[in-house]
Amino acid sequence: LLEALMDQAAIAVERFDLAEEMGQTRLAAETERLRSALLASLSHDLKTPLASILGASTSLRQFGHLFDRADRDDLAATIEEEARRLTRFVGNLLDMTRIDSGAIVIERTPVDMGEVIATALQATKSVLEGHRTALAMEEGLPFLASDAVLLEQVLVNLIENAAKYTPAGTLITIDAGHDAAGMVLRVLDEGPGIPAGAEETVFEKFQRFRARDHRLAGTGLGLAICRGFVEALGGTITAGSRPDRPGAVFTIRFPAPLLLPAILEQAAG
Ligand code: ADP
Repeated sequence: LLEALMDQAAIAVERFDLAEEMGQTRLAAETERLRSALLASLSHDLKTPLASILGASTSLRQFGHLFDRADRDDLAATIEEEARRLTRFVGNLLDMTRIDSGAIVIERTPVDMGEVIATALQATKSVLEGHRTALAMEEGLPFLASDAVLLEQVLVNLIENAAKYTPAGTLITIDAGHDAAGMVLRVLDEGPGIPAGAEETVFEKFQRFRARDHRLAGTGLGLAICRGFVEALGGTITAGSRPDRPGAVFTIRFPAPLLLPAILEQAAG
């Protein structure tokens, strides 16, 4: 984690130096402001779960003998949950660092989108408890020249958000299809949707809306990572509100040359 932080700081410093060299002092000042904001946000995101872990473990050690079994289990569960949150956060930071430094490793193989979606749904099973899901896959959808692991991570992020930001009992739909332009994957929900004007900013690092409710814990990195991965794979990702009813829709597109029939034709010709 420290390394990731150092990397982020080093990148900021590099930019700072570069900007100064170019005599663009305003850019340098802005970079410096961003760096401070980034460090403040990182420190906050680290301190909150650490404080919970410290509180719970201290209670257990000092007063554990006074508690009954259920209370001890509660404290242990808090420690576990907060440690998992930290682990996720560190994973996110590392992914973000890889994206920023252009060091994402892509293993391109023919990817069956049906399998990727099934794996992502399996991985989000516990988050999806309390929601309904629907899958609409085009029959005979061509394979995509892509990286199944990265794609799965993108879908997991989108599905987790769809579960996190929408009321229990609502429907989350995943659909996949293709046309002459390429392949289209969508995750649709029935929550409040994306605030008008925030369709682009939701993809920025550490941008969070409606996140004052602390139960909706997050890092504000999920969508930035989704965009980083999708773009590294040659696609685009956009966010919006559903036109027909309340809800958010995230749309991923991959251009036709990445569809497998196109690749086979190219190889034949
Ligand atoms: P995080 O979930 O950690 O806050 P993300 O980058 O995944 O970070 O999302 C950024 C912000 O976009 C969220 O804080 C939330 O306000 C908004 N958002 C993401 N997904 C949805 C969704 N399905 N419906 C409504 N708002 C969403």
